[in-house]
Amino acid sequence: MTVSHILGYPRIGAFRELKKATEAYWKGDLDQAALEQQAQKLRAAHWQAQSDAGLDFASVGDFAFYDQVLNVSVLLGAVPERFNAAAEVEQGEVALDTAFRMARGRAPSGEPAAACEMTKYFDTNYHYLVPELHQGQTFTLASTRLFDEVAEAQAAGFTPKVALTGPVTWLWLGKEKGGAFNRLELLDGVVDVYAAVLTRLAEQGVAWVQLDEPALVQDLPAEWQQAYERAYNRLQAAAVKILLATYFGGLGDNLSVATRLPVAGLHVDAVRAPGELDHVVDRIGPHRVLSVGAIDGRNVWRADLAALRERLQPLKARLGDRLWLAPGCSLLHVPVDVGAETDLDGELKSWLAFARQKLDETVTLARLLDGRATADDEQRLADATRALEARRASARIHRPAVAARLAAVTSADSRRGAPYATRAKAQREALSLPLYPTTTIGSFPQTGDIRADRRAHKNGDLSTAEYEARMRAEIAYAVARQEALGIDMLVHGEAERNDMVEYFGEQLDGFAFTRFGWVQSYGSRCVKPPVIFGDVARPAPMTVRWSEYAQSLTDRPMKGMLTGPVTILQWSFVRDDQPRATTCRQIALALRDEVVDLERAGVRAIQIDEPALREGLPLRRAEWQAYLDWAVESFRLSASSVADATQIHTHMCYSEFNDIIGAIAALDADVITIETSRSDMELLDAFQNFAYPNEIGPGVYDIHSPNLPDIDWMVTLMEKAAERIPAERLWVNPDCGLKTRRWEEVEPALANMVKAAETLRQRA
Ligand code: GLN
Ligand code: ZN
Repeated sequence: MTVSHILGYPRIGAFRELKKATEAYWKGDLDQAALEQQAQKLRAAHWQAQSDAGLDFASVGDFAFYDQVLNVSVLLGAVPERFNAAAEVEQGEVALDTAFRMARGRAPSGEPAAACEMTKYFDTNYHYLVPELHQGQTFTLASTRLFDEVAEAQAAGFTPKVALTGPVTWLWLGKEKGGAFNRLELLDGVVDVYAAVLTRLAEQGVAWVQLDEPALVQDLPAEWQQAYERAYNRLQAAAVKILLATYFGGLGDNLSVATRLPVAGLHVDAVRAPGELDHVVDRIGPHRVLSVGAIDGRNVWRADLAALRERLQPLKARLGDRLWLAPGCSLLHVPVDVGAETDLDGELKSWLAFARQKLDETVTLARLLDGRATADDEQRLADATRALEARRASARIHRPAVAARLAAVTSADSRRGAPYATRAKAQREALSLPLYPTTTIGSFPQTGDIRADRRAHKNGDLSTAEYEARMRAEIAYAVARQEALGIDMLVHGEAERNDMVEYFGEQLDGFAFTRFGWVQSYGSRCVKPPVIFGDVARPAPMTVRWSEYAQSLTDRPMKGMLTGPVTILQWSFVRDDQPRATTCRQIALALRDEVVDLERAGVRAIQIDEPALREGLPLRRAEWQAYLDWAVESFRLSASSVADATQIHTHMCYSEFNDIIGAIAALDADVITIETSRSDMELLDAFQNFAYPNEIGPGVYDIHSPNLPDIDWMVTLMEKAAERIPAERLWVNPDCGLKTRRWEEVEPALANMVKAAETLRQRA
């Protein structure tokens, strides 16, 4: 029989119960015992769901109060010194609050300390806590939580399969602290603790342990490839069977590394790397289990069970019981249950499968392959086929006008009329800006009043007319404040926007929104990405009336404010029936219409934010250029309709530009504002080395900090910037939007920023 399993289940709960409990605990409204109880309840429910669906295992080890990588750091006793937990590590039980302090700097008990760094997990929007590694570091089994959860599952009658981040990937995700060294020096010490963990799990009666090694889908230096052999040779003595889990991509040049390891099974992501499956089968050997990740763990679409059955039948014939089935990766990355969606129309709903539904799909597919399908399975197969046929043919998805327009795009459509130097001259005349012009990134404080108004409007307690009047008042206030501060290029403040993607998605055709489609982003923070299901078009202007109104209040230039096509794509669930590039270009054309209308309405500068450009980079370097090509083209498609004198801005808020500086230059935005304040302007080296040709506003102060930025400090930073970029091409601005700050913080900070710009002009 084909074993069906999952690599992990979302832990937040269908209604974000874990978020609510954890935040209540942090606030002191819930005690630790009650928090643990809520967690236990959720785990039990998730195991029950897996069992009800008919999976062969219950996944244990995928639960985390904050992050599964942090769990492993705690398990290994890798707690940085500043958290004062040496005694806890020694006693083999790191406290929950210690883990919370590692994650967020503070917890109901214990001294606050600087939190560990957080970063995105591979190419997902999930953030993990970066393991801190130092030379000579020792490791010891420092938590019993995992074993307790195993016992908990067993006591409730479930058969656990334990899921853990593997030792090499854990090190790969870590970062050297306190001086550079080769972190592979730590491998043996780490693997020793893993060996102890596996022994203990074997004693508990666990048969299978899944070690997640997604680092294997990335470009690995040779010594890291070799590390796999060293680590897994050492672990083969364990009395449990190891399932080595890879996902998010193909193994590529790591294929023979992975298939040579002495493990009992290998999991591959056949959704992300369908072409590699046959090679893996050829090399899996006569004894290993091959777990095929056939159901999409990263997206929300219902699986084509009939097609999958056909595709997998030959594999089944070759592998027999050594074929296992699963989603491609952990279901952590999809929402919990489409059944909870009451507002989505039935047709759209029938096209979707969230985590709960993917359990059923996995089991049904396994039974279909085994020839032991139940009547329910046959029904599910028929339903899936019918839904997919309807989806393929639906007029809601396919808009011939959109396709025709895209087909007619020429290279001229993504080129401005004149080169930057000519445009800059026209813009200087049109905008009459001083040297070192000041501006902000777009948003002003989203006050409690604004959010209350929006909620009231959504609930129907505030009429649209009244809501819009209040938002206009907020805009007028923001414009008046900026004029009083003496800022040169103004923004309307984005009061009317809930979120920089949702706001646009709600007004574009082809987007749908769920009520409970939450996905964990980090810790207790969840996001609810829109679903792009169909061809994208803009039925009506989206921002024009707000920008037009804002411009009418002032003689100074007002920036129109849009979210870029790549960012909208990146922060949504994207349709899987056409290339992402095509969807991105459709969004770009919709935004292009908006740009045209803004310009026509008299807006002389338009900012198209692309904070997600870098995070869209594929995991393999060989694929970067193809991505960057269509990403850049999409941005340019949205921006290039305007006259020379209309100034296009863009904004990016991350700090590693080196890799993509060529692409950033290729955007050919007249002005880019970026986050640099925390790097002392060193970031501009990338721009200088590349001889970046256009204008730059290097953020002069960190908006994430409540501290008032010092005038001299900002002047010094800009002088450093001027050593790298000619002053004529520099702007003065904060490093990101101000929506999370209060007006009491924003006004003095901007006043200092304006004074800094005045000082710079005097000295020039
Ligand atoms: N214009 C947006 C704002 O100011 C940009 C946000 C972002 O960079 N993520 O809020
Ligand atoms: Zn930003």
